[in-house]
Amino acid sequence: MENGLNLNDRATPSAQPLTTELVNDEHQSASSHPERSTPHSENILPSPSPTSAWSVEDSEKLYRIRGWGEPYFSVNAAGHVTVSPKADRGGSLDLYELVQSLHQRDIHAPLLIRFSDILADRIERLNACFAKAIARYSYPGRYKGVFPVKCNQQRHLVEDLVRFGQPHQFGLEAGSKPELLIAIASLNTPGSLLICNGYKDLEYVETAMLAQRLGHQAIIVIEQLDEVELVIEASHRLQIQPILGVRAKLSAKGIGRWGGSAGDRAKFGLAIPEVVVAVEKLRNADLLDSLQLLHFHIGSQISAISVIKDALREASQIYVELARLGAKMQFLDVGGGLGVDYDGSKSNSAASKNYNMQNYANDVVAEVKEACAEADLPVPTLVSESGRAIASHQSVLIMNVLGSSETLDLTPEPAQADEHLIIRNLWETYQTIDTENYQEAYHDALQFKEEAVSLFGFGYLSLQERAKVERLCGACCTKILTIARQDDNAAVDLEDLERRMASLYYTNLSVFQSAPDTWAINQLFPIMPIHRLEEEPTQRGTLVDLTCDSDGKIDQFIHSRETKPILELHTLTANKPYYLGMFLNGAYQEVMGNLHNLFGDTNVVHIDLTPMGYHIAHVVKGDTVTEVLEYVQYDADDLIEEIRKQSEVALQKQHITLPEAQLLLKNYERSLRSYTYLKS
Ligand SMILES: *Cc1c(COP(=O)(O)O)cnc(C)c1O
Repeated sequence: MENGLNLNDRATPSAQPLTTELVNDEHQSASSHPERSTPHSENILPSPSPTSAWSVEDSEKLYRIRGWGEPYFSVNAAGHVTVSPKADRGGSLDLYELVQSLHQRDIHAPLLIRFSDILADRIERLNACFAKAIARYSYPGRYKGVFPVKCNQQRHLVEDLVRFGQPHQFGLEAGSKPELLIAIASLNTPGSLLICNGYKDLEYVETAMLAQRLGHQAIIVIEQLDEVELVIEASHRLQIQPILGVRAKLSAKGIGRWGGSAGDRAKFGLAIPEVVVAVEKLRNADLLDSLQLLHFHIGSQISAISVIKDALREASQIYVELARLGAKMQFLDVGGGLGVDYDGSKSNSAASKNYNMQNYANDVVAEVKEACAEADLPVPTLVSESGRAIASHQSVLIMNVLGSSETLDLTPEPAQADEHLIIRNLWETYQTIDTENYQEAYHDALQFKEEAVSLFGFGYLSLQERAKVERLCGACCTKILTIARQDDNAAVDLEDLERRMASLYYTNLSVFQSAPDTWAINQLFPIMPIHRLEEEPTQRGTLVDLTCDSDGKIDQFIHSRETKPILELHTLTANKPYYLGMFLNGAYQEVMGNLHNLFGDTNVVHIDLTPMGYHIAHVVKGDTVTEVLEYVQYDADDLIEEIRKQSEVALQKQHITLPEAQLLLKNYERSLRSYTYLKS
C-alpha cells in the first residue's frame, strides 16, 4: 500500500536515488517502523475482528498514528498517546497523564497544548534538510528560511520561533501591516531576513524601509504594479536604498485547495509583462540595483512534488532573466507549499503529500543550481516561507466527550400478531436478513420506515407504534451493516449506512472556534482517543459540538488516501472522562476561530520538555464569558445590575423569594467569570 511516494522522482538526470539518504527527515525516515498493512486497514471501513484480543498495535494501525504521527506521536503499552517533542533526540511524555495533571491544576478541556520542542525540531529539520541538499549538490550558496507569520501569529509561538531559528538565521515573513509590526518588533537575529509581502500602502513601505535603519534585512516584495511607485517615492523621500523583490505569477499551476494562488489569474503577484514594466520603472528611477529577490508562492499544501518542480523550473528561469536585465539578483524565495501528511498515506491525496522534506529541499537546490549553471550566474541565497510544515505539529487540541447517543437500546421486541402490518413486516424483515438478501432487506426496511412516518402524519399510527417501527428499522440496519462490513463488494452504500448508524459523540468543543478549517474547507486532521488504546473501540461515531448549528460537527476522518464518515470510538464509561486529541492543527486555524454561539478561546498551555519530565512554561487562560460578551459590547456590571433590578421587581410582586433571587444573582455572576465551555 501507500507507494505513492516516489523517492526517485528527481528532476536532474545526474541525481542519484534518495532512498538511502532519508535519515533526518520526517515520517519517511522511519524504516524501523514500516507502515504495516493488513487486510483490515485496507478496507474502506476497517472492521476489527471481535474474536482476536485487541492490542495497542491494532489501535496504532486503526488510527494510522505511525503514518501521520512519527516521530512525535505514538502509543505506549498503557494504551495512551505519548509525545516525543524532541523526536528521536529522546524524552517523551504521556499525553493522557499530562491532561490529567493539568485538570488537577484547574486547567480543563477543551485545551490546546503546545509543545515548543516540536517547533524547535521542525525548524531544525527544515534547516538540516536544506544543509544536506546544499552539501549533496555542492551548492555554492546558502539557505535562509523565514516563517510566514500569518500561519500562527501567537506571541509565544513567534518568540519561540525566532529564538529556535537563531542558529540558522531564520527570519520572518509578514503578509500584512499588522504582521509587519509583529515581525519588526520580534525579529532580533542578525543576518536573518524580514520578507515584506502582502498589499502595501505608503506607511507599510516606509516602515519596512526604516526597519533597515534598525539593522533589519527587510526585503519589500512588490506584489502589485502600483507598489513600484510607492517604493520609489518612499525611497526618494527617506533617502534609503531599499532591498526589493518581485512576486511573479507563474504559469505553472498549483493544485488542490490553494491552486488559485498561482496561474495567470492569481490574486497576487505580477504577471510577466508587469514584471518587465516594474524592472523598467526601477531602472528609470535608478533603483534597479535594489531589485534582489524573486518570489513565488503557488499555494499551500502542495501534495505532488511534480507541481513543485514545474514551478521551480519556471521560477529559476525568471530569476536568470531578471539578472540578465540588470537586476542585482541575490535571493530566490520559493514561498510556502511544503505539505503536511495529515492522513499518513504518503500519497498525493489532498490531505497528504507524495514527497518528504528532504525531497523538497533537494529539488529546490538542484533546480536552482542547474538553471544558474547553465546561465553562468552565481547562485542565489535560497529562501523558503514554509509555514504549515513548521507550525502544524506543535499543537494538540484535547477535547472531552460529554455523552453519546449510543445509549439508545435498539434491541427489537418481536411483533405480536395483532400489531400493525407494518410492524409485523419489519419484524419479518429483521428476522430473515442474511448475506444473500441484505441489500433487498435494507431497501425494504427504509421503505417501511418511510411509510410509517407518512401513516403517522395521517394519524394512523400511534407514537408508540412509530417508536417501535424506528427501533425495528434501526435493528435491521445494524444487522445489515454487520454483514455489509464483511462483504468486500458491499451491495449497499456502506458509507451512507455507516453515517446513518453512527453514534453521535457530544464533544466539549466549538468546531467554529477550535477547528474552523474542518468546517470551512473540509480540512482533515487526525483525531483519536488519547487513552484506552489497549481496548477495542467498538463504537463508530461522528463528533458533534456544543454549538446550536448543524454544521458544528466532524464527520469526515482520515483513512488511507480516502476519508471515512465515522471514527472508531470507545463506549463511554459512567463518570470517567473520555478524551480525544486532534493533531497537527497548529497552522492557520487559531486566528480563524470565531465566536459562534459565544464560545471563546480555549485554554492554551505551553509545555517544555526537561530532563526531569516537563515544565509548564505558559498558561494562557481561555476566554471567560465576560470577555466574550465584551466583543459584542456587553458590560458585565451592567448585566448584573439589570438582573438585580429585575429581581427587585419580582420580589416586590412576590414572584421570587429572596433566597431564590440571591441564588440567581450568584449563579449569574459566577457564570460571567467562568470558561465558556462546559465544566466536566
Ligand atoms: C500562506 C503563505 C505561505 C505559507 O504557506 P505554507 O504552505 O503554509 O508553507 C508562504 N508564503 C506566502 C506568500 C503565503 O501567502
